[in-house]
Amino acid sequence: MAAQETVDHKYVYDFAEGNKELKDLLGGKGANLAEMTNLGLPVPPGFTITTEACKAYLATGREPDGLADQIEAHLEALEREMGRRLGDPGDPLLVSVRSGAKFSMPGMMETVLNVGLNDRSVVGLSAQAGGNDRFAWDSYRRLIQMFGKTVCEVPGEEFEHALDEVKRAKGTKNDLDLDADDLRGLVDAYKKIFAKHTGREFPQEPREQLDLAIRAVFESWNAERAVLYRRQERIPADLGTAVNVVSMVFGNLGPDSGTGVAFTRDPASGAQGIYGDYLANAQGEDVVAGIRNTVPLQELEQLDKKSYDELLDIMARLEGHYRDLCDIEFTIERGKLWMLQTRVGKRTAAAAFVIAGQLVDEGLIDLDEALHRVNGAQLAQLMFPRFRLDHEFQPVAKGIGASPGAASGKVVFTSARAVELAAEGEPVILVRRETNPDDLNGMIAAQGILTSRGGKTSHAAVVARGMGKTCVSGADELEVDVPAKRFTVGGQTVVEGDVVSIDGTTGKVYLGEVPVMPSEVVQYFEGSLDPERTDDPLVLAVHRIMTHADARRRLLVRTNADTGADAARARRFGAEGIGLCRTEHMFLGDRRELVERLILARTDDERESALAALLPLQRADFEEIFREMDGLPVTVRLIDPPLHEFLPPLEQLAVNVAVAQERGEDVAQEEALLAAVRRMHEENPMLGLRGVRLGLVIPGLFAMQVRAIAEAAVTVTRAGAVAKPEIMVPLVGAVQELETVRAEAEKIIAEVVGDSGVEVLIGTMIEVPRAALTAGQIAEAAQFFSFGTNDLTQMGWGFSRDDVEGAFFWRYLELGIFGISPFESIDRDGVGRLVRIAAEEGRAARPELKLGVCGEHGGDPDSVHFFHEVGLDYVSCSPFRVPVARLEAGRAVVETDGSDSR
Ligand code: ADP
Ligand code: MG
Ligand code: MG
Repeated sequence: MAAQETVDHKYVYDFAEGNKELKDLLGGKGANLAEMTNLGLPVPPGFTITTEACKAYLATGREPDGLADQIEAHLEALEREMGRRLGDPGDPLLVSVRSGAKFSMPGMMETVLNVGLNDRSVVGLSAQAGGNDRFAWDSYRRLIQMFGKTVCEVPGEEFEHALDEVKRAKGTKNDLDLDADDLRGLVDAYKKIFAKHTGREFPQEPREQLDLAIRAVFESWNAERAVLYRRQERIPADLGTAVNVVSMVFGNLGPDSGTGVAFTRDPASGAQGIYGDYLANAQGEDVVAGIRNTVPLQELEQLDKKSYDELLDIMARLEGHYRDLCDIEFTIERGKLWMLQTRVGKRTAAAAFVIAGQLVDEGLIDLDEALHRVNGAQLAQLMFPRFRLDHEFQPVAKGIGASPGAASGKVVFTSARAVELAAEGEPVILVRRETNPDDLNGMIAAQGILTSRGGKTSHAAVVARGMGKTCVSGADELEVDVPAKRFTVGGQTVVEGDVVSIDGTTGKVYLGEVPVMPSEVVQYFEGSLDPERTDDPLVLAVHRIMTHADARRRLLVRTNADTGADAARARRFGAEGIGLCRTEHMFLGDRRELVERLILARTDDERESALAALLPLQRADFEEIFREMDGLPVTVRLIDPPLHEFLPPLEQLAVNVAVAQERGEDVAQEEALLAAVRRMHEENPMLGLRGVRLGLVIPGLFAMQVRAIAEAAVTVTRAGAVAKPEIMVPLVGAVQELETVRAEAEKIIAEVVGDSGVEVLIGTMIEVPRAALTAGQIAEAAQFFSFGTNDLTQMGWGFSRDDVEGAFFWRYLELGIFGISPFESIDRDGVGRLVRIAAEEGRAARPELKLGVCGEHGGDPDSVHFFHEVGLDYVSCSPFRVPVARLEAGRAVVETDGSDSR
């Protein structure tokens, strides 16, 4: 950037110059202070230094040209407005210096109050306050404390110890009992602490205090905790923070002063009415720091009716203006109310729905906006089973809710023990200090995972989320001793086999088994809770918003279901068809033996007789599903996995055979099986003989399945229901593969359906990158495409899913190579591009081509938006995700600006 431009750049905005839309430039706090100022609310005057200035400082390590002059000019204007000069010994102006990024972010420097105080202006401040020495020295000691801690990294405990020491000497626990002399003494003690840690005296020059504080705010953007937090919350690293300089108002001037925080509705339940805390004779952080007991905001009415009424009035105005729940900070200085902050308040998932519904009722927003204000992640949270906590259960520890759900089970400390107990049908909770790739089998076997270390991106958290398994990580009150097979928490010892319960939403850990119940929202979706007959505000809000989402969405939502029971449940959840019915489970259980016969067949006769035995079993499975899905399309995928998955594992079989031989038993049958398993062994089975390749290699296999589907459809239709089968060929990479399967299938279908009126579509999965790239050709032979985005992601990235998530994804997430696992949310740029190409080229070749997706991405909120954008006809996901997909498909339509709802 040329020097000239830099000089001309506007880095400082007076509050009167900004507004709430300028969050990128002024940060959330600054933009909202400006908004309130322009609404005419009582905000202490001040100015905001932009995120641009911060970014320039961080890039070069020095304040950009022009910044110092602009600060000077704005400070002078502020001084004129206030009729006081910063740190003036006789009549000082004091300011606070407050960080404020676009998103509120713990880990950054917070706030320094009372900047401008020094050994001389403390006297002037006292005079200003009518000779209130106590107040002046209290303010000064606070400055040294906050400045020391946040600007100069002096350990905060040292100041706290010194304060405790003075209170102890005085024989009190209450800071209000300290008088001016005590506080003057404390200032001396604080100065010594400051000098000891920084090697310099506490800066007396007001402007130096200001400049150092501003610089510290800039630098705090890159503090370790801030960096970690951003990664976890996926906040971009290059936004920078703004700095707000605000003239001080004082809540610590006496009993007619005070400070408080408030919400315009209950952020936990969404219930109407104000929620807040107030603390008389206190400054800033005291309210939340818990130094004295706060009183409920309602009591302010008795203390100071005028301020209370004004506050309520302002809160109502803010809600009307922001059209949302607001979270505010205020101070009362000798009966005069000042607003110090507002923002759209964070809320629980339940409150998000309830409040959105209320705001519609109040005419503040319309239903489209209500739909925009909630999201699928919140809905998913409301659908997890929850602990019934009406009993005596108290949590013994609280960690990070790393992967939601509620799980109870016996404690185990090793993967091996988890597998053992789970095999006996025992639910287990795997407890580790932290997990590593060796724990994978144990994690799969466990109901839930509990670790004492690590955050939301730890191995345990990432893997558990990938598996949809409940996980609490970083419960650091737990002392885990794996070799001794026990952990201790709060003086209690828990040994292997004891039962614990973990809540992956709240991060809470309970001893014993806490009973679990389905959430009200699930009861509603299942139809056991009637929205016409309940007064549960959450259910009513969910019902209303879901109804609107359904009315708005263009995408249809189908489900992945392999059994009649799953299909029925998904239908209650709103599924509009089956997008993926896998047929492989139909080859398991007591049917394994038939599959073995098929695989071991030495003659055509043997093979055909095995297939003939499988046919009626398959047909019965399909009949059940078609009946449940009466009138809705059902996409059946022909058998996909490598056949050896249906045989015993090689090692086990080899041992059995060897042992039997030793004993001289007749092992001809086992030997044949072993030989077959050896023959079929593949180094990379996911890239081997599977999908359409099987159909082309094993004569009669696909034909049997096609016949079973067609016959089932005819039977169900003749019985009066409507079957709409769609036969889907997996793993196609070339149109010739599909053409070959299709030619055979069409013959069978024609023969079976006759004049029954049944129509059977034939289509293909698009899951091999080559299929996506030759979609125009493939569409000639396909009536529909269904994107198998799991395999497309595996093959697109060259990731073996079963290996990579446990092995190194945590590291990739830590490095920011991706913000979220590409198996969880579709990689728009790469895998998504393949989808886009295939959709466009497929439709160009065959305009009526039906397009859907059946990978797990079909139920992922962000991916649903992507599939909407690409123009697919439907997404298909697991039954429990169906409501989430419905909601997000509706949101995709109303979301015009693409802004997030963080
Ligand atoms: P945070 O983002 O951590 O809430 P804030 O910048 O909001 O930090 O400030 C911390 C506390 O100091 C809050 O209670 C705030 O209301 C109070 N505070 C900030 N600036 C002033 C000021 N100019 N006068 C009085 N109190 C202030
Ligand atoms: Mg604040
Ligand atoms: Mg696949």
